[in-house]
Amino acid sequence: MIYFDNAATTKPCPEAAEAAVICASDRFGNPSSLHHMGVEAEKTLASAKRTILDRLGKEGEILFTSGATESNNMAVFGIAEALKRRGNRIVTTAVEHPSVSAPMKKLSERGFEVVSLKPKEHGDFERAIIDAVDEKTVLVSFMAVNNETGFIIDTKTVYGGVKRKNPSCAVHVDGVQGFCKLPLYGDTVSLSGHKIHCFKGIGALYKNKDTRLIPLSFGGGQQGGLRPGTEPVELAAAFEAAVKAYPENLTIFSSLRHRLTGHLERLNRIIINSPENGIDNILNFSVLGARSEIMLHFLEEKGIYVSSGSACSKGKISPVPEAFGISHERADSALRVSFSRYNTEKEVDILAEALEEGIKRFAR
Ligand code: PMP
Repeated sequence: MIYFDNAATTKPCPEAAEAAVICASDRFGNPSSLHHMGVEAEKTLASAKRTILDRLGKEGEILFTSGATESNNMAVFGIAEALKRRGNRIVTTAVEHPSVSAPMKKLSERGFEVVSLKPKEHGDFERAIIDAVDEKTVLVSFMAVNNETGFIIDTKTVYGGVKRKNPSCAVHVDGVQGFCKLPLYGDTVSLSGHKIHCFKGIGALYKNKDTRLIPLSFGGGQQGGLRPGTEPVELAAAFEAAVKAYPENLTIFSSLRHRLTGHLERLNRIIINSPENGIDNILNFSVLGARSEIMLHFLEEKGIYVSSGSACSKGKISPVPEAFGISHERADSALRVSFSRYNTEKEVDILAEALEEGIKRFAR
């Protein structure tokens, strides 16, 4: 099996699995309990939070969630609700994951003015986001890395620019595809465990000390009342282990990308949809004349797993390619290959061979 769908999810690493088992066997107390077991569980959470903050290079709070969908909802609704008296304008992008774009739709139905920018309409996208901010803007929410194409939005530039223009405007970053790969600047940042070789069902929301959120759920007051419910200690321990095991040196991704683009350049009917300066581990390309699904299943028969776009769109047509200026025909034949550190150049060569065969067989 050759797994090239790591932007959808990654294989849990042995370090994460081991940490979860140790925690579940020996440190399974409830962090709210006053006895020794509770104190140990609380220490496990604190250590996981410190490790994630260190990897982000930040001080502030980490709130554990069920995943980045929940983190994005908490940040977008929580900030909009907290700041709505100051203004009602929100700036976002048209290429967000549904866990940001769907909350934005709700906020616009509730009377917020949501400005959604398309990369295809702006040469300098960071500048466009900053320029869209005015004195009434309470929130800017954007992704660091697009999950479908690997397009990067420089969070440092946007964060600095927005704060210079309107210091009281909050900046939320969907950091899912950038965490452990790029620096992430935001007042709040969403993270997901299963994209970095931890398990599904754990994510986090980073929040700096000054950002106020209105909670979306209510209960026992855990995590400062912002995300009540008994904390997932075993999953937090696994998240910490996955972060520690994630390498700092990611040249593996640039080598794999270089090898794949080399192959693609020599094949007929291939157009690369990812920007040249996109993230190295995601490459989106179209095999003109062959529908994505046909190619995807052809590759699957050979034991090679890729994606036809975003796994989260579940067959629905994604508005994202259009916002990047990718034509309908190209979007319809797009494949996304996304690497992990466990992939090899040999696997890339096998994929290229299979693509060549698929092109001969299907491309019309
Ligand atoms: N944002 C982005 C950019 C993503 O790629 C994903 C996962 N596809 C999410 C948010 C949602 O993350 P989760 O699966 O942890 O809810």
